[in-house]
Amino acid sequence: MGNFKLWGLKKSPWVFHVAAASCNNCDIEILDVLTPRWDVERFGIVLVGSPRHADALLVTGVLNRKSLPRVLRVYEETPKPCLVIGVGTCTCHCHMFEKSYNVVGPYDKHLPIDVYIPGCPPKPEAIIMGVVKALQRLK
Ligand code: SF4
Repeated sequence: MGNFKLWGLKKSPWVFHVAAASCNNCDIEILDVLTPRWDVERFGIVLVGSPRHADALLVTGVLNRKSLPRVLRVYEETPKPCLVIGVGTCTCHCHMFEKSYNVVGPYDKHLPIDVYIPGCPPKPEAIIMGVVKALQRLK
């Protein structure tokens, strides 16, 4: 990746939120980091409305038969290189839904996940730290 593009990505990552099949608590925590209390926009982290504008995907919830094709489509539509950040314990190892009839396994079976943020749900500080760790992986 060119130095200028890398610099821009590290300074101001645009993220797209993908809720696969979550209970919504992780999604609420993601929204929380945008509120004035945490205000991640001051670090240049901006939530965008289309994967075509995103540098990183924040995925929540488990992958099931219905959500998998949709999540893969969002990933395909995101310009590469893009970071994929799993938010919540559901993304780490399917959590309590592991033995559910329609769960299709952990994320790393289907997507290149850069960072997992464990927690049910993770705190806003952990989500911010996860995004920072994902950015540190960029070279
Ligand atoms: S990790 Fe917990 S809070 Fe997040 S989607 Fe799964 S069950 Fe809900």
